Amino acid sequence: MTYEPVIGLEVHAQLATTTKIFCGCNAEFGGDPNTHVCPVCLGLPGALPVLNQNVIDLAMRIALAAGCTIQPRSRFLRKNYFYPDLPKGYQISQFQSHEEMPLATGGGIDISTDDSGTKTIPLTRIHMEEDAGKSIHALGESLVDVNRCGVPLIEIVSEPEIATPEEAFHYLTSLHQLLVYTGVSEGDMEKGHMRIDANVSIRPVGETELGTKVEIKNVNSFRNCQRAIASEIQRQIDLRETGGEIEQTTMLYDPDRNVLRAMRTKEESDDYRYFPDPDLVPVVVDRAWVERVQSQIPELPDAKRTRFAKFYGLSADQIEVLTADRDIADYFEATVAAGVQIRQATNWIQGDIMRALNDRKIAIGDLRVSPQHLAELIALIDKGDISTNIARTVFDDMVETGDSPSSIVEQKGLVQISDTGELDGVLDQIIADNPAEVARFKDGDKRLMGFFMGQLMKATRGQANPQKASQLLMKKLGS
Ligand code: ADP
Ligand code: MG
Ligand code: ZN
Repeated sequence: MTYEPVIGLEVHAQLATTTKIFCGCNAEFGGDPNTHVCPVCLGLPGALPVLNQNVIDLAMRIALAAGCTIQPRSRFLRKNYFYPDLPKGYQISQFQSHEEMPLATGGGIDISTDDSGTKTIPLTRIHMEEDAGKSIHALGESLVDVNRCGVPLIEIVSEPEIATPEEAFHYLTSLHQLLVYTGVSEGDMEKGHMRIDANVSIRPVGETELGTKVEIKNVNSFRNCQRAIASEIQRQIDLRETGGEIEQTTMLYDPDRNVLRAMRTKEESDDYRYFPDPDLVPVVVDRAWVERVQSQIPELPDAKRTRFAKFYGLSADQIEVLTADRDIADYFEATVAAGVQIRQATNWIQGDIMRALNDRKIAIGDLRVSPQHLAELIALIDKGDISTNIARTVFDDMVETGDSPSSIVEQKGLVQISDTGELDGVLDQIIADNPAEVARFKDGDKRLMGFFMGQLMKATRGQANPQKASQLLMKKLGS
């Protein structure tokens, strides 16, 4: 029998607010343990939460960007459970049922994969909630850090319509890109800004009913998620093939060994005894508020890709690199606006600029080379003042110092030698020094051209104008 996988993802994303969701504590990652706390996020008796308006703004922004419906009225509920890193004994969250609506429902994330082409993965909802603290188990002790208690999260829940582990990977990268483009989340995976629960089931091809699902908890990278789903699918198929039953369980994935282990059998939502938090008023969003948030949404990745294809005539690969990050796209457009040809701007950004960013592990916002300086550098090459090779050295200097290319060229005396008289002298010397090679060249071994040019570049420290020099050399060698 052939089976098809069915996958639904629940993604927790940290919102880019400066303070927590229900108090004024610092929401920043890290800090000494238990220093970003107050009576509210510690859950001390009598402390009252006050909703951070920026949380609703950001949650609505991503919801609108994903085409969700904003619910005019939603509530915060208490999800009750005991955990050492949850001092209140409940998490403030939202819920979706006949009676309760979360902030946003519907919408979808567009993905495109090699196998399935383009497709929209529908969303069930986006809701707001608070994060819990962190338990650290080490050296036979268990420690609790509650700095993260009350850090604002949104949970983005997809419908079970992701068909392959590869689609899951692309869903996550598209969602990540959307979150970062809109400024809703910093999307820093190393700080746990996106954490994924993957729900996986299988069913015989042609079957419409969903199979029993297994939930893989808290995966922290997109590739690991893809791998975890793939190995869970295989485990379920093997189990079914050998007559076993799939149990509804929660699993943890160990990326180092690529194995899953059962964590607990699944609790039902009834177990949490959800009820409206009496300390918080309902969230009521009017039209004007929605419109204000809508107007803050920048050009989204899909629209940018379409515009880059039409306006600049770039290939799909080029567009992917140039629009992966909004700041890189802006950098490209500023370079072109500074007078650089599209082809050259693309090559430099895809090549040297990306390399500089990767080598230094910096974002383009921290690069000391401005688009104007890059344009100036390219103009120096075009005018024949410096060769492409020299330009590379100048560029490295620009990255280090932030100086303008012309001042670097001047300071270091890197101007290209295009003067015929000067090149003449050097070439005559090379010919005089290498009679054997000259003879072989004249006998027809044209590959020696490379040897002569190499000698020339060595003698001029790479500063000879290659076109001029090779023309002169040909003349001198009588070819
Ligand atoms: P729970 O109450 O267990 O969290 P939900 O119905 O809220 O379950 O769904 C949670 C996630 O699991 C959603 O992303 C949904 O798409 C996905 N999901 C639900 N049923 C299945 C299934 N049978 N197979 C795969 N994914 C599923
Ligand atoms: Mg769930
Ligand atoms: Zn606090």
